[in-house]
Amino acid sequence: MTDAILITGGAGYIGSHTARRLLEDNRRVVVLDDLSTGHREVLTFFERIYGPEQFGFENVSLLNPDELAGVFDRHTFSGIIDFAAKSLVGESQEKPRFYFENNVLAFRNLVAASGDIPIVKSSTAATYGEPDSGYIPLGEGYQEHILGAGEFDQCQLMPAAVSFDELLGWYKQDIAEQSPALALGEIDIAHLKIPTNVYGITKVMDERLLVRSGRRFAALRYFNAAGADRSRLIGEDHDPETHLIPIVLQVALGQRPHITVFGDDYDTLDGTAVRDYVSVPELADAHVLCLDKLVSGAESMTYNLGSSKGFSVREIIKAVREVTGHAIPEILGERRSGDPATLIANADQIKKDLGWQVQESLLETIESAWHWHRLHPQGYLVVQEERFNPFWNRWVNVAAHRGNRPWRGETQSMDKGGDIAYEPECYLCPGNTRVTGDVNPNYEGVWSFTNDFSSLVLDAYETEQRNGPYASRTSRGVCEVVVYGPNHSQRLSTLSVNEIANVVDAWADIYARLGEKAEIAYPLIFENRGDVMGNSQPHPHGQVYAYGEIPDLIVKPQLAMFAQYKKEKGGCFVCDANDVEVDDGRRILVNEKDVVAYVPFAAQFPYDVMIMPKRHVASLLELGAEERLGLADALQCVLTGLDGLFDAPYHYTLALLQAPTDGVDYGYHMQIQITSLLRGPGLRKHVVGADIFGNLINPSDPNVTAEELRHAMAEID
Ligand code: UDP
Repeated sequence: MTDAILITGGAGYIGSHTARRLLEDNRRVVVLDDLSTGHREVLTFFERIYGPEQFGFENVSLLNPDELAGVFDRHTFSGIIDFAAKSLVGESQEKPRFYFENNVLAFRNLVAASGDIPIVKSSTAATYGEPDSGYIPLGEGYQEHILGAGEFDQCQLMPAAVSFDELLGWYKQDIAEQSPALALGEIDIAHLKIPTNVYGITKVMDERLLVRSGRRFAALRYFNAAGADRSRLIGEDHDPETHLIPIVLQVALGQRPHITVFGDDYDTLDGTAVRDYVSVPELADAHVLCLDKLVSGAESMTYNLGSSKGFSVREIIKAVREVTGHAIPEILGERRSGDPATLIANADQIKKDLGWQVQESLLETIESAWHWHRLHPQGYLVVQEERFNPFWNRWVNVAAHRGNRPWRGETQSMDKGGDIAYEPECYLCPGNTRVTGDVNPNYEGVWSFTNDFSSLVLDAYETEQRNGPYASRTSRGVCEVVVYGPNHSQRLSTLSVNEIANVVDAWADIYARLGEKAEIAYPLIFENRGDVMGNSQPHPHGQVYAYGEIPDLIVKPQLAMFAQYKKEKGGCFVCDANDVEVDDGRRILVNEKDVVAYVPFAAQFPYDVMIMPKRHVASLLELGAEERLGLADALQCVLTGLDGLFDAPYHYTLALLQAPTDGVDYGYHMQIQITSLLRGPGLRKHVVGADIFGNLINPSDPNVTAEELRHAMAEID
């Protein structure tokens, strides 16, 4: 097993994005976090998506050396990225000891516990203090330059609950006296005089401590981090929020009445302060790049992580208006103490050395932040709410935490499937005799026949009775079996896309042939696969139940929904659901020209999947060859993904829901629905109690199951 990367503070904003970046590269990650400000939810998400082989979590404080030693006993690390820190400037002025302990003592413990493992340290532009405009954009050599020019003999610390000398005294007493090698010299102290706040000073202490430790390190000085992961599943969630972009987005969401502009009398073009904003996914890239350089033997490095471009507070507000379409009321406030007029990085060095540079535009970064904020208006939370599922016309209790409950009951064994192409005992293989004595033809492609045990028949006896509240009617219809091909060892997911398209064509023909009959109001085409779904015949096949009456469970409520929705909203609820899902994006599995597939917002079972033509069509009959091929492709992607996710042939039930064939135009939009009673590999969801008598409970977050499935699908690609 390869060594892991340790990410301290990996439950926080930049840490979680960096962890995700490494995990997406199939690397092993251990997050260490005391969860004082980080989010457990993001770690649960990583655990679920990447599994224990790839991801581990240590709920440990860097202030506890014994616990920390345990982390290094349990894992072998090839590198460390350290994000664990407190970072609120105002708070640091009020609680300097708290900042000294969490940002410096904690870091010293990490350095002491980790031997000579290369370390990437998150640092900050606050180490530059309040530079004169003549030094902007700021290069990494700024401190050395001004110190060399003898410009700094006074410390710049603004009024705080501690003096500069006291801060130095803490370092001396708590660090240097125990580890004389880490004692600060004159040059270190000169650097410490530059920041204007305790937070900045603690970060300079960390940088100088690293220099003194003789350790190979990368110190990365961030300018303003913004934006969110493209998946829209992880993002920024601070409490309290102090940063400009998320605050303006909260105004756009209506969570705040206005944005207060902290001063418009700075020496800048529009009078408001100018900052350099960098997207967090790109910051994550830079960390990984630097770590890999260090691991492969590079010398220590210190880089600015900025875009080399500045935007004023007013320009940011304007950009948010553009992205969100919201007005964003603004009022003018006092300057915030300690805010420099302009901070822009000169980020040439890292570009020259490592080829890293910001690619994203400000609007793209704000867009990604906006997606995160509008889709997670309350930030991270475990979903526990009722969601309306229009496809089934019912409310679903989505209670994601229930998926983690201890389970002592049976686990489902999942048969890996066989490779025997012809099975003499199989009643569906070509040439074999069925229980009725009928002999199967030597069929080659798709073949269908009337079910030997049909639940519905055309010549059923006539009945029409009422007995108090009870009633009976003639059970009229046709049941057929549709065999997808002669090879016993295959299943829908292992057929080629062209072979699946042949099945789709056969479904269309059957729908047309049975739908034409005057006695048939609704041909339902479906497939049950696997023991869990009550199917023990592995030969690839599905079924048709062509009903004399429109069936009650799904289609009839859908028709009522279609009609009501059309009356109220003037459109088709399936088209609108597709639009909402595409716009949201978190649950999308396939989004091609003609076809969309997703885990629906109100999934009833964990791995519910809807596959639909984008065009508003009533049945397969309205689809051209290319569209049918698109549908076949989506079916293959989703089903092979599910097989991959469960590491076995998936157990599911699939239904092709098309318009009734009773001659009425319902404005129907056809759907393929796939669902399963599996709630995880080897785990079966029991439909009992509340699921039968109350509302169905989905014990998982549809965003997360969609991401699991996307991952499995990508692995197959
Ligand atoms: N800012 C503002 N109103 C707010 C929050 C921030 O005008 O509600 C200004 C702040 O004074 C600074 C800029 O926006 O000039 C960026 O502030 P932020 O806290 O996001 O980052 P900083 O540069 O302070 O690290």
